[in-house]
Amino acid sequence: MTSVNKKTVEDIQVKGKKVLVRCDFNVPFKDGKIADDKRIKGALKTIEYLKNNGAKVILCSHMGRPKGEFKPEFSLAPVAVRLSELLGCEVKMAKDVVGEDAMAITANLQEGEVALIENVRFHKEETKNDPEFAKKLASMAEIFVNDAFGTAHRAHASTEGVSHYLPSVCGYLIQKEISIMGAALEEPKRPFVAILGGAKVSDKIGVINNLIEKVDTLIIGGGMAYTFFKALGHSIGSSICEEDKLDLAKEILDKARAKNVNFLLPVDNVIAREYKEDSEYMSIYSDSIPDGWMGLDIGEKTQELYSKTLKGAGTVVWNGPMGVSEWEHFASGTRSVAKAIAETDAISIIGGGDSAAAVETLGYADKMTHISTGGGASLEFLEGLELPGIACLDEK
Ligand code: ADP
Ligand code: MG
Repeated sequence: MTSVNKKTVEDIQVKGKKVLVRCDFNVPFKDGKIADDKRIKGALKTIEYLKNNGAKVILCSHMGRPKGEFKPEFSLAPVAVRLSELLGCEVKMAKDVVGEDAMAITANLQEGEVALIENVRFHKEETKNDPEFAKKLASMAEIFVNDAFGTAHRAHASTEGVSHYLPSVCGYLIQKEISIMGAALEEPKRPFVAILGGAKVSDKIGVINNLIEKVDTLIIGGGMAYTFFKALGHSIGSSICEEDKLDLAKEILDKARAKNVNFLLPVDNVIAREYKEDSEYMSIYSDSIPDGWMGLDIGEKTQELYSKTLKGAGTVVWNGPMGVSEWEHFASGTRSVAKAIAETDAISIIGGGDSAAAVETLGYADKMTHISTGGGASLEFLEGLELPGIACLDEK
């Protein structure tokens, strides 16, 4: 478990210091333009704090997968342009990562000035966490700030390696992630309800195993429900099922019983003939699926049951849609769960790319306590694993 007691930018003296900040500027592009600048906006709080407190701010990030060589389409230059608009000041863009240009620009920074060095993944040493490369990055600065939660589960040179050579603290984004998720896992307001969905049990085994030790109720939906159905001896038609995970599903069911965890599975389903957006479909008031049909969403009774359970929760953690929510006919389960969570007074935490996207599309984002910004990283956090990009930061 990653310690949540990490120093933040507010716990160190930054005035006059060169501060290297690892951001997550891995933004989507469309037709050569930034399609969504949410990640750039998300980084502003930490950057502005450092700027306003007289630091010399050196930003770095990865973008895409340039595989260790310079490729212009993966340049961070467009990010520098957008960032300078948002900050209302010049952001000096270096032409390289640890080359002459980056060294010259960062060496000459004045207090309150901001520079961005090129995509750290232009060097293959980045993902290898090469110590010499990390040392070069660190040599530009006097303090390291990690604020890239989405890559904190990777030990790369710019997320972990640099911390060996500099005092290292977290920025506001990481601090928010670890304080909210950490508190929910360590001292949850009860009842603590976790609701897990998505396609496969195998993607979520770690999360289930960790949460089953902590929650009062565990709710299952989505494709993985059918592996549990089959383990219980129900018929599942042609629903998605992991045959090699049936024993594991049984073990989880036994564990829930032994720990007195209220374990909820769908009591009815929306079924379809084919795995297709426009397939023939219908609702059935049953927890078994007829031959020739597959379960693609939880049914109405299940939605009521889950909503009622969520309503009384003190803490809710949600990961994974309740059905194939990309397709309108199979989206209502996910929609009703999102609504129920939005309407509770519970501390609500959404982790996982698809569930976070669903909450945002439905317009409930501002009703949630916290939507985690890192898909893989938030899953590993919920699994109780230690994230190297956070573990390496200085303790308070
Ligand atoms: P998250 O990104 O929130 O962690 P996952 O990636 O684990 O969620 O799961 C999302 C995927 O699960 C979606 O692509 C969705 O279509 C799929 N899915 C959900 N329910 C079913 C189902 N009943 N059958 C097949 N696929 C499903
Ligand atoms: Mg996903």
